[in-house]
This record gives sequence, structure tokens and C-alpha cells, in this order.
Amino acid sequence: MMRFISFSSGSCGNCSLLLGPGSGILIDAGVSIRRVKKELEAVGLGFDAISAILVTHDHGDHIRSLGSFCKRVGVPVWTSGALHDALAYHPFTRDWITPCRQDLQPGVWNPVTADFDVRYFVVPHDATQCLGYAIRCGGELFVLMTDLGHATPESLQWASMATTLVLESNYDVDMLLGGDYPQYLKDRICHGIGHLSNDACAEVIVKSLHPELKNLFLCHLSGNNNTPQLAYDNAVRALEREGVAPGTIALRVLHRGVASPLLNL
Ligand SMILES: [Zn+2]
Ligand SMILES: [Zn+2]
Repeated sequence: MMRFISFSSGSCGNCSLLLGPGSGILIDAGVSIRRVKKELEAVGLGFDAISAILVTHDHGDHIRSLGSFCKRVGVPVWTSGALHDALAYHPFTRDWITPCRQDLQPGVWNPVTADFDVRYFVVPHDATQCLGYAIRCGGELFVLMTDLGHATPESLQWASMATTLVLESNYDVDMLLGGDYPQYLKDRICHGIGHLSNDACAEVIVKSLHPELKNLFLCHLSGNNNTPQLAYDNAVRALEREGVAPGTIALRVLHRGVASPLLNL
């Protein structure tokens, strides 16, 4: 049995915790360590629930507090060698990361904790490198795909095996193009190496849908170019189009700056 809590999701900060029977993995550290402590205490947990940290990429909204976690919690930090090389020089992490460094090997299952084996796949995003994750625990497969300009064949393959899928639904195309972002920022977001639109998210849902999928969580919603209702309704329509009866899959939006409940997956 896995449990999951998102502390925050989006450009304001990304951080979540995946719990197994005897260990837990913090995914990204873009939320202050004080807030994580408070949210953990609110569900009866402490820092000892964190056995390891996984990092998706080296943007501030994912690593802002990683240095503090290394200093205060001191658990192994797992990511690719390329990302670790970047974190060794990044001002948010360079003073603290080295003793915690653990490089994930590509193309194999990495035994990250007693409960969890982890594989990564590279997704297109304008960071040093950006990783999607497939995390195996017992017969369950948790797949996380965030900050990706478009879905690659490999990411779709992992999504189509997930029992829980955390998938970016960043922006509504009309809100982005009609909004007041400068043109360079609009281009950055929607030209293939930025973020996944609601429409592109629906396409991933349709292409990867399979009977074992139990939980679908929409993540990294834009604060300016999306609303939780738009993203949710868009995913509902995609599931309906595929003939999925309401309630068959637990669909949820992971909110900006607000923790989810502690969820059983
Ligand atoms: Zn991000
Ligand atoms: Zn990013």
C-alpha cells in the first residue's frame, strides 16, 4: 500500500511525499522546510518519514529548499549524474548537496529505499535535464510526469503502465495566448520544451489509458493561465470520451501552495 501527499504543486513550489510500508520518498524540494514540517505534523508524521529525496530538475520551484533538506534531514538525494553535476554548482544546493549525492543509473531499476525501486526517463523541458519517474512498490507503479513540453513515446509507455499517474496540466491554450504574458514567455511555455497544456494532457490521458489506472492527479497548474476547474473538467471529458465511468478512476487536482490530504493510492 502506498500513500501520497502533495505539499504544493506549480511554479510557486513543488514538493510531495510518497510513502511505502516502511520508507518514504520526498519528490522535489521547492517548498520551505518549515512548511513541510508543519504539513507532516498535521498528518501525524515527521522528518523521519523521509528516507530519500528525488529531484526532477534544477529549476527553483523544484529545488529552492533542497539545500536546507540536505542540511537538516541529511538523507540521500537521488537524481541523474547530469543533474547532480548541475546541483553541485547551483547556488541553492552547492554548499550542501555533495554528502547526499546519489546518482541514479539510467535504464535500470534503482533500489532507492527498502520499499521503492526507481527508474527515470528524460522529458523535454528547458532545464539542464528534466526527469520523469516510474516508482515501483509491490505491484503498484507510481508515475510522475511534470514540466514537460510534450509527451515522448517513452513517457507515454510509462504512463500506460501506471497504477497512479501524476501528470502536468499546466495551461489553457486560449488563456495563455489571449493573456498578457510577453511573447517570449508565451513561446517558452508552449513551444515544445516548456509545459504541457490541458489539451496535451488530455491527449496523454487518452493515449495511455488502461484498466489498471486507479489514480490520476493533475499537477503544476499555472496560476495565470489555468484554473483547477478548467483542468479538472478537461480531464473528465477525456476520460468520458474513452468511456470511463465516473468514479472508476480517482481524479484530483494538486493545488498551488495548498497541501492535499494524505491519500491512499
Ligand atoms: Zn516547475
Ligand atoms: Zn521547470
